[in-house]
Parts: sequence; C-alpha cells; structure tokens
Amino acid sequence: MIRKKFSIDEILNEFNHKSKLSDLISQFITLQPRGNSFVGKCPFHNEKTPSFNVNDEKGLFYCFGCKVGGNAINFLSKYKNLSFQESIKYLSEFAGISISSGNFIENKKDKKKYEIMRIANEFFEDCLKINDIANKYLDLRISSSEIVKKFSLGFCPSDKFLIEHLQKNKFTNDEIRNSDFFIKNKNNKFFGRFKQRIVFPIYSFNNQIVGFGARSLSADAKIKYINSQESDIFKKSNVLYGLKQNIDFIRERKEIILVEGYMDVISLYKNDIKTAVSSLGTTLSKNQILKMWNLCNIPYICFDGDDAGQISSKNIAMKMLEFLTPGKSIKFINLPKGEDPDSFFTKFNKEDFSKFKKESMDLSELIWQSIVEAIKENTPEFLALLDNKISIICSKILNKKVSNEYFKFLKNKKDQYVWKINKVPNISKNVKFTRKTDENINEKILIIFMIYEEKIFKEFIEEISELKFKNQELESIKKKILEIYCQNQYKFNLQYIDHLKEKAENFFLEIYELKKTHLKDLKSEEKFIIFRQILNNLKLPDLIKESKSLKEKILITKNLQDQSQLIKKYDKILGEIKKIKNKTT
Ligand SMILES: [Zn+2]
Repeated sequence: MIRKKFSIDEILNEFNHKSKLSDLISQFITLQPRGNSFVGKCPFHNEKTPSFNVNDEKGLFYCFGCKVGGNAINFLSKYKNLSFQESIKYLSEFAGISISSGNFIENKKDKKKYEIMRIANEFFEDCLKINDIANKYLDLRISSSEIVKKFSLGFCPSDKFLIEHLQKNKFTNDEIRNSDFFIKNKNNKFFGRFKQRIVFPIYSFNNQIVGFGARSLSADAKIKYINSQESDIFKKSNVLYGLKQNIDFIRERKEIILVEGYMDVISLYKNDIKTAVSSLGTTLSKNQILKMWNLCNIPYICFDGDDAGQISSKNIAMKMLEFLTPGKSIKFINLPKGEDPDSFFTKFNKEDFSKFKKESMDLSELIWQSIVEAIKENTPEFLALLDNKISIICSKILNKKVSNEYFKFLKNKKDQYVWKINKVPNISKNVKFTRKTDENINEKILIIFMIYEEKIFKEFIEEISELKFKNQELESIKKKILEIYCQNQYKFNLQYIDHLKEKAENFFLEIYELKKTHLKDLKSEEKFIIFRQILNNLKLPDLIKESKSLKEKILITKNLQDQSQLIKKYDKILGEIKKIKNKTT
C-alpha cells in the first residue's frame, strides 16, 4: 500500500486504535483511574489537587484548572515542545502505527536509510536461497522454509556483493557508507559487519526494517551474534524483535512472552507459540515495557534457566517497579536449569511449556524472594534489615495505590517468614529455614567490619574497645587488631589480615567466606544499620550485668549523695537497655 498523505484524523484514529492516550501521558505524569477516565496533576499549571483529565475513548485530555486540552499531538507539542512532524513521529513509534512509504513524516535522510535497509534485506533473502551452507544450518535449526520466509531471514555473502547490489540500486557511496552495514576501522577503511552471517531483520514498531542481527555460521567465531549499531533510526530500546511477525496472535491471545534472543523467538514460533518477542538482550526499556502493556496486561518474562538469566529477571523485576500501575504486572517463567527457550524444545514440547507457564512466578513473589535472599542470617539484626528493604522497594513504586498494596503484601510475607523461623527452629526440611545459628556469629561479623570497613571501624572504635567478647579466641583477635591499629597511629592497615593468616588461618578463611555471603549485597547505609545493631546486641549482656550490680549497690549504700548518683547511672543504663531491646524485637 503506497499512499502519499495521511490526514491528522487518520493518524489519531490509528493511534487511539493501537494505543491509549493515558499510556502516552503516564510516561510523564502519574495518572489515577477515575470512572471511565484518568486524572492527575496538570503539567501545565501548578496545582495541588488533580484536575487534569485524560479520556482514552475520545483520545482527549482536558484540564479544568487552566483549560488546556486537546489530542495526543497537542499534548506532545505542548509538553515536549515537539514540532508537529516530530510529534507524529513520536506517536507512530510509540504506538507502532504503520505509515507506509511515501508518508510525510520522516525526513529525507531517514527515508534513505529505511530504503537501504529494505533493499539490503531483499538482497540477503535472495542470497540465502542460493547458499548451501547457510541453508543447511537453517534446516538444522529451523527446518521450515515457511518460518525462514515469515521472519525474512537472509544471508550476507560478502561486502563486495552487498556494495555492488546497493550501487546497482542507485545509492551513492556516501549513503552506502553511512548505512550501518560498514564500520570504519583504525586505518579509516570501511569493512562489513555481516559477511558470512545469517541475518535477522529487526523491525520498528511501525514495521520498517531499522537494523539487523547477524549470526555467525562457523562454530568457532569469536562473536556469535552481532547487532546493528544504534543509529537515528535504530534504537534497541525502541524495538521488540518478533512483534511484527507475531502481532496478530499477541492481539488475539492477549499474551506476550519476552525472551532473550532471535532464535528463542523463532523457536517458540516453530513450536506453535506465536506470542514471543525479544528485547535483544536482557534489559527492558520504558518504551518496551509500555508497548508490551499496551498489548497485554501481564506479559511473561522467559529468560535462560541459568544464573545469568535469573539475575537478569531480578533486574527487570526491580526496574518494573517504577512503572507499575493498577492492573499491570509481569510474570516470570522459570525454565529448567541450563535450558533456554531454544534448547527447551529439543527435549520438551508445547504442553510442557504450558505447564511452566502456568507455574510462572508473580512479580511480587520474585521481589519478596530477592529481599529475603539478601538476608543471610535469621538473627534479629538481619531480620530488621527486611523492614528496611521493604521500605526501599515500596518507595520505588511511584503509583501510590500499588505501592501501598506492595507494602501490605511484603509485610505480611515478613510476618509469615518470622513466624516460621520461630515455630520450627533448625529442624524444618525447607532449606530456607534451616540456617544454623552460629552463637558467635555477631562477634565474627564485628571482626569482619574491623578488617574490611574502615569508616565504620573508625567511627565506633571506642565502643568496640569497651566491648568484651564471650569467645576467648575472638576476643584475643579483636584485641590484636586494635593493638595493630593503635601502633599504626590510627591508620587502617591490612596487617590485620596478615596477622590473622599467620595466627588463625582457618578462622581467616571462615570470616573471608562470611564476608562474601553476609555483607555482599548490602549498601553502605545498610552496613551501618547492621553494625549498630550487632554492637548493641553484644553490649546488652554486659549492660544487664552492670545494671544488676548497680541495683545491689544502691540497696546497700547509706550515703544519700552516693546513692542518688548511682540511681542516675542506673537509670541511664536501663534507658540504654530499653532502647536496644526495642530496636531488635
Ligand atoms: Zn492545568
């Protein structure tokens, strides 16, 4: 379909059909649902109570305070200061409106780039047809010429042929050089990026080829996959690989499965799961998140079943928090260890995948897991950190309603967790609750702080030196470290470690391991909190002992002046005890 011009009405209609004005605007301001529309604080005038209304059905916004209103284009030009053409470009990218060639939107330079991508891909597709090695490879991996065609896969034989083909199509040498198929090396020479590779065209939200992924055919290639460089028309954060091919199924089923790579998308497609897309990696941009939420309320994330995949899932979970709104979330499909979606189907089938999908984990559950994983001991000091972490998580959720619900959910989880530890100490079969409590753990952690955390050590040195450890060996190590510190004119010194290595090698190894597990994920303010609480708890027995002896003294002292002084001291200690107990229970 080639059309010369689109009217504004047509573009707005298309936008309202494929996207929502509230999704567009909520990128910039927080909107709350109210009846059939959304309200928020007006970005165009200063106000305390929201009077800015967005109506998705009509595709219009209006502020009852300052009387500003209009459609999506008006909003962008007013809020982002975009020109008319820029606003339309923004809208078409945001909503994936396909405005085919001949439209008035892109500037000439961009248009040339789109053109060169399209022509090159046709060339790659033709080359694939006549290359045996590439075909054999795809037969092995995909074994369906229909799918190869559906995803417009191609093969790039050599730079020379590609250049000749582009020249034949009347592109100038400058245009060819700027096309992203070639990069300049150190000697200012251009060389191709994709030669002898299978190429996967990447489409923008409005269905134009904006870049390519390319896979090496040789097993010993240093780099298996290469992507196009980011350019004016290609932004990784603005595409979802596979969306173009799968959009009908995604709309029909209201389902999206986000996977890591090209082959994952294709592999799912081959196994009749035609709702997968890839963000070309394991990160997710705001645009990609909003695009997915436009198409379905709860997309699935399905990364590789290895440690890296798990970490990426958690990173995405954390990132999503900021954008959560009522009714929108994500779920995580956990594949068996060592499998990616591609390898999964060499052993399992579609029904098995459905089972994994059914057992997928809610975002809130994953968030709770990552909170509790950071807690290395079930001692009061570490349990107190849970509250801290819950608050931080909830503060990341900008939507107040969702944030409140998360707070309730996570608090409840914490209560259950604490209840379980108290109920079945050390004997539960559940691994999570079988952490042994090492009775000297606090003393050991305090020594770790003395060795590795200079700032905290310095700030609390007086209190540390007043402290008496119960464990004699630990007490002598603590004393030795303090001694070295004093001898060094109060300079932090790695001799502590040498000393430990010499005198107590096993102990050194133990605290080295403890440091790796117990302090690894803590931020500096969290370290302070933990340290403060450990110190307090270690002080507690001595304080209680002292309070008891003071009480006895008070009772036998006859001198009233002495007595009143003792009482003052006694009150002070009771106050300290009370403070510590309140904090840790
Ligand atoms: Zn206003």
